[in-house]
Amino acid sequence: MHRIAIAGAGLAGLTAAQELRRLGYDGDISMVGAERHRPYRRPPLSKEYLLDPGADIALAGTDDLDVTWLLGHAATGLDLSGQRLHRGHRSSVPFDALVIATGARARALPGVGDLDGVLTLRGLDDAHALRTALTTRARVVIAGAGFLGSEVAATLRTRDLPVTLVESDHVPLRRPLGERIGTIIADLHRAHGVDLRLGRRVVAVTGTRRVEQVHLDDGTVLPADLLIVALGAEPETDWLRGSGLRLDGGVVVDGQGLAAPQVAAAGDVARRPSTLLGGELIRVEHYSNAIEQGAHAARALLGIAGRFDAIPSFWCHLYGHRLQSTGFTGASYDLHLRISEPDGRFLAEYHHDGRVVGVVAAGFLRQLAAYRQLLTKEYV
Ligand SMILES: Cc1cc2nc3c(=O)[nH]c(=O)nc-3n(C[C@H](O)[C@H](O)[C@H](O)COP(=O)(O)OP(=O)(O)OC[C@H]3O[C@@H](n4cnc5c(N)ncnc54)[C@H](O)[C@@H]3O)c2cc1C
Repeated sequence: MHRIAIAGAGLAGLTAAQELRRLGYDGDISMVGAERHRPYRRPPLSKEYLLDPGADIALAGTDDLDVTWLLGHAATGLDLSGQRLHRGHRSSVPFDALVIATGARARALPGVGDLDGVLTLRGLDDAHALRTALTTRARVVIAGAGFLGSEVAATLRTRDLPVTLVESDHVPLRRPLGERIGTIIADLHRAHGVDLRLGRRVVAVTGTRRVEQVHLDDGTVLPADLLIVALGAEPETDWLRGSGLRLDGGVVVDGQGLAAPQVAAAGDVARRPSTLLGGELIRVEHYSNAIEQGAHAARALLGIAGRFDAIPSFWCHLYGHRLQSTGFTGASYDLHLRISEPDGRFLAEYHHDGRVVGVVAAGFLRQLAAYRQLLTKEYV
């Protein structure tokens, strides 16, 4: 094996390349990226980078990696038996082994047309567009109070921008964190001046060239200069249609992280079985998962990987609180609120079949680390 291609020049792809080099692989590595940028950190895009262009988003180690960067043109097809990655009609990249790390794209809001001022936030170019649009005292409507929508609302409130946050569920983040934690987050939003519209959907936008009004499903019309669509992400698998790989809510991989012999998938795009959840297929859109799975993909291609069963963990920033989770959280588990302090700090456990499968906390970092150790020891 002397030619490895990596589709997707993001965090998982970069980590796979770094791990290959660290383990002594000295063949060619071609990194095919749809964006014209080298890999960077996405989390700051909804946090400090949205307000401060000087904020650091760099990922270390891209300069001395000895890879061929093929940036600015997406992979458009995969010929598995011919071992080639296509990039439109312009070129193809031959490989002996492949890492698929094409991540996810922001879900669009159907029916909103193409007025200026309707934006999503996934990549660096999106963040630039959003920051440029925010320079005036923009009235901002955000569709979706998930992690991204909630975090962007919190970031914009630090600039005192008027923010209306529209969520179809009756509390924010109910599905990933459960009703009780969602209620705490709803209170946090309101306490910081967000106009929270729960149980409502954005159904249309109107304006001449730019968005001027956002329409909700109960007939409410919100005056707006910007609509940020934060309705979650979909795995970037369209380019793999017809390739023969199993695509089902992501690129489905086995316990080793392989989608086919010599083809690994990692990061937001990959769907893998979880031992902790009895073999259920899961797709994890977290930073630490992209690193762990990216490194694992490299080891899988070199034939030295065991089973991939890392415990997921996540963080986000809301109004000065660092919300962090480890393990599996969500509305389908029983929630036990263990600590709740008047200053907003809390710690909650999620139980499944009578055992702890996850924890979420604002503060209490030492306890979280202990839970992570415990979950890892017990299930990985
Ligand atoms: C704004 C924002 C904030 C976030 N904040 C947090 C946070 O606070 N905490 C946390 O844990 N996680 C956070 N995340 C999630 C985290 O950043 C992702 O889980 C992580 O970036 C996934 O890495 P990846 O390499 O799998 O995918 P990506 O980072 O999406 O990289 C995939 C790359 O592949 C490229 N690509 C797509 N299709 C093709 C193609 N056909 N050919 C070639 N290239 C292609 C994409 O353009 C992209 O550059 C955040 C994400 C976003 C967008």
